[in-house]
Amino acid sequence: MINRRNFVLQLPLLHFLYFLPRVTRGFEIAAVRIWPNEEYTRLAIEHLEEKIKIQYSNEKNPDRIVIKIFNMEITKKNFNKLANINLENTPIKKISILNSPTDEVKIIFHTNPSTRARISSIPAIAHYRDRLVIDFIPAKKEDKLLSFLENYQKEKELNKRAEPQKGIKKPIIIAIDPGHGGEDPGAIGKKGTKEKDVVLKIAKRLKRKIEKNPRFKVFLTRNGDYFISLRSRIKKAKRAGASVFVSIHADAWIRPDARGASVYILSDKGASSEAARWMAKKENLSDLVGGEIMTKNDEIAKTIFNMSTSAQIKNSSILGKKVLEELSTVSHIHKKTVEGAGFAVLKNPDIPSILVETAFISNPQEENRLRNGLHQEKIASALNNGILTFIKNSKLRF
Ligand SMILES: [Zn+2]
Repeated sequence: MINRRNFVLQLPLLHFLYFLPRVTRGFEIAAVRIWPNEEYTRLAIEHLEEKIKIQYSNEKNPDRIVIKIFNMEITKKNFNKLANINLENTPIKKISILNSPTDEVKIIFHTNPSTRARISSIPAIAHYRDRLVIDFIPAKKEDKLLSFLENYQKEKELNKRAEPQKGIKKPIIIAIDPGHGGEDPGAIGKKGTKEKDVVLKIAKRLKRKIEKNPRFKVFLTRNGDYFISLRSRIKKAKRAGASVFVSIHADAWIRPDARGASVYILSDKGASSEAARWMAKKENLSDLVGGEIMTKNDEIAKTIFNMSTSAQIKNSSILGKKVLEELSTVSHIHKKTVEGAGFAVLKNPDIPSILVETAFISNPQEENRLRNGLHQEKIASALNNGILTFIKNSKLRF
C-alpha cells in the first residue's frame, strides 16, 4: 500500500526521471522497399529498433508528409538506404531526411498535391523485422474497379445496338484472386521463385482463357506486384458483381517432398484436417506480412463477412469438386477431396469461393513446373474448365 509519506517521496523522483537526458539511439534500417500501383504506393521501412515512437503530419502548400521518429538519429549509411529508393510511378517527388536538434529523425516526403498518407507500425513477423509502413494515396486514385464496370457497361450498350432484337444476356463476371503480392511474397521456392509471381502469371493466363468466351468477364483483384488486403479482395469481387471467386496460390509445406494440387473452401464447422487448419492459418497471416493492420472499421466489417451462408458453402464445395477433377488431369493431386478451413479470403456470404493451391512451391520438381509457361497454361486450362462446368451445371442464376 502506498502511504502518504511514500507518495510524497516518489513525486520528486518522477520529476527527476522526466528531466533525465534522453538517450538517442541510431535508427538502423534493415531494408527499404517501395510498391507503386495506381491505387496507392506502399513504402516499407524495415528497422532494427523494436519500438519506435513516431508522429506524423500532412502539410499543405507545399504538400508534404512529415514523419518524426523520436529519440533517434540517422547515420549517413542509413540515410542513403532511404534516400536512394526509386520514386518512379509514385506520388512522392523527393525525400528529405534530417537529424533535428531535438533528437528526432525527420523524414519529409514531398508529394504531389493532395496525396494522403496512411501510416502503420507493424511488429516483426515471418522473415521481417519491425516495419514502418507508409501508404501514399493519390488525390484522384484511378479506380480500376470503376473503369472495369464502366467498360463493361459500354460494351453492353454497343452489343445492344448491334443486335437489338436478340435479348443480350448480361456477362458472367468471374473474380480471379492472385494470392499475396508486394510486401507479401507468399511462399518462396529453393530457386527463389516467389508464390506471388507465379500465381499472378497463372491468373493472367486464366483470364485470357475465360474471356475467349464472350459471355464471361474476368475481374483480377490485383494485376501487378502490390499488396491487397484479404478483406479488400472480397469487397472488390462483390463490387464487381462477381458470380464466382477463385483465389490462386502455390504454397510451401514443411516437408519438401509434399506435392500436388489441393482445393479449399470455407468451413464453418472447423477445419477438415490439421493440414487444412495449418494452411488457413498461414494464408490468413498474409495481411500482417503484407503490411496491413486491422482498423476499427475492419473489425465491424468482419462480423458481416463472417455470416457465410450454408448455400455459399454448398456451392463452393460443388465448384471446388469440379476444379479438383479438372486439376487431376494435369497434375498430381495432394488430396482427393475438397478441404475446408477458416480462410479469411473465402468469407463472402454470397459468392461461391474457392482457394486453389496449384502445387507446392517448396517441392523442387513442382517449383520447376510452376515456373514453366506450358505448365502454367495447363493449370489455367484446368481451372477454366472447372469453372465453366460448374456454371453450366449450376442451379444458380447467372
Ligand atoms: Zn498462398
